[in-house]
Amino acid sequence: MHRDPDADALGSSLGWARYLSGKGHSVTIISPTDYAANLRWLPGVQEVLVYEKAGEQAVCKKKIDEATLICCLDFSALSRLKDLGKVVQEAKAVKMMIDHHLEPENFARWMIWDTHAAATAQLIYSTIKIIEQGDITDIIDIPLAECLYAGIMTDTGSFRHPNVTPEVHLAVADLMRTGMDTSRVHRMIYDNAPLSRLQFLGYVLSQKLVVLPEFRTAYMVLTEEELIRFNSSTGETEGIVNYGLQVENVVMSALFIERKGEVKISFRSVGTFSVRDLASAHFSGGGHKNASGGRSDIPVTNTIKKFLEILPSYKEELLKVE
Ligand code: 5GP
Ligand code: MN
Repeated sequence: MHRDPDADALGSSLGWARYLSGKGHSVTIISPTDYAANLRWLPGVQEVLVYEKAGEQAVCKKKIDEATLICCLDFSALSRLKDLGKVVQEAKAVKMMIDHHLEPENFARWMIWDTHAAATAQLIYSTIKIIEQGDITDIIDIPLAECLYAGIMTDTGSFRHPNVTPEVHLAVADLMRTGMDTSRVHRMIYDNAPLSRLQFLGYVLSQKLVVLPEFRTAYMVLTEEELIRFNSSTGETEGIVNYGLQVENVVMSALFIERKGEVKISFRSVGTFSVRDLASAHFSGGGHKNASGGRSDIPVTNTIKKFLEILPSYKEELLKVE
């Protein structure tokens, strides 16, 4: 899975691993970095090895070295693996990619790649269904369904983004038939935050949200000092970028986070405006048309300056969104 894994990266990986284990394979699940606290309940998550953790790196390397197959889930560029990218690139195992992001790199021999899939978890569901020739009754159990549901639910913004298709609802219907408690998954992910996260959000929305009506753009900047002051861990900034889109007429929202000497940027948009194009053209990033990310290694103030300078060249596209 990709670095800073979200519920789709983690859920699809855990679901796929559970399926393969059930078929008798020996599976190791590796994340390049640690993940958010609200995902620590996902079934099987305690087995995930974190490459970045000093104590786990050697095991990860050994497992990758011994592997016959490396499944790359929810990313299509090895740079999304951080330092692990080189290890995977050099590994002799056959590589397989299962993903729904645009413009994949050509590193995998096998690709299950569909940009119309709402989530990688949806691709795992349909892949299992194809392998099982339609009969998944005894194959997808409650824990597996919970993992896949978590991925689909979060990547569709709780079934509200335009990536929701009839296929998404049909997949979810099948997952629900296992008897899983969908409401619990929502609560565990969205209503499970420490009080500090809500207070932090209150601070960001009241003090840091800037709206530029002439560009129909909203943005927020969080400095390292603020993250430390609010004791904010990686997961606590997740989702904050979406609030910018709640402002009337805004079609693009950006969140700049200064962390460990680099600036991580999240972009969200509505309608025809592609934040993926903007992220890949100016911020070494990518993703989807309406949800993308990137990074910048110049200081945060210069990064914002650069962002404000490129906005006029997107003005026409921003204004024409219906
Ligand atoms: P988020 O803002 O939640 O970190 O990311 C939104 C989307 O953009 C996700 O689909 C994610 O995979 C993609 N994304 C985030 N950061 C990067 C990046 O640095 N490079 C690329 N290629 N995609 C990114
Ligand atoms: Mn995804």
